[in-house]
Amino acid sequence: MTAKKLPSARPWRKDLTVKRWQGLLASGLTMQLYVRRHGFYPSEFIASVIHHLPGEFEQHRASLGPIGEGNCQHCGRHFWKNRSYQKFCSYNCNSRFRMANTPGAVEANRQKMRDFRAKKRKENEAKRALTSEDGPQNPPG
Ligand SMILES: [Zn+2]
Repeated sequence: MTAKKLPSARPWRKDLTVKRWQGLLASGLTMQLYVRRHGFYPSEFIASVIHHLPGEFEQHRASLGPIGEGNCQHCGRHFWKNRSYQKFCSYNCNSRFRMANTPGAVEANRQKMRDFRAKKRKENEAKRALTSEDGPQNPPG
C-alpha cells in the first residue's frame, strides 16, 4: 500500500482546476463526495477554485454541501478543513502546538534521542570489539 499523497500546498494549475470544477458541477455531487471519489482534498480543491474562479465559488457555494472552514488553533490562520475535526491549518502547526503545550514534551523527545544514540553507540562498539577479536573477516590465502 502506498502512502496517501498530502494535500497540495499551492493551488492547482488553472486548466486542471476548471476541469475539476466543471466535473463537480456536472456530477451533481456535494463537494465532499466529489473530492473523496477523485482522491483530492477539500482544502486544495476549495483553495484552487477560489484562486482561479472566485466568482464561481461564491455563486455556487450554497449548492456544494457542507464546506468546513476554521481558524488554526496555533497560528490563527483561516483554513479550509479536510476533516470536520481538523483544528490546525497544517501538520507543522499541529506538532508545534503539541510541543508548546505539552509540559516536558521537548525535553522528553530529546532524552529519547539521546538514549537511542547511546544505545546505537554501544551496539557499534560491541560489534567492533567482536570483529577485532576474530581477526580479519577474509584472511588472505
Ligand atoms: Zn496554523
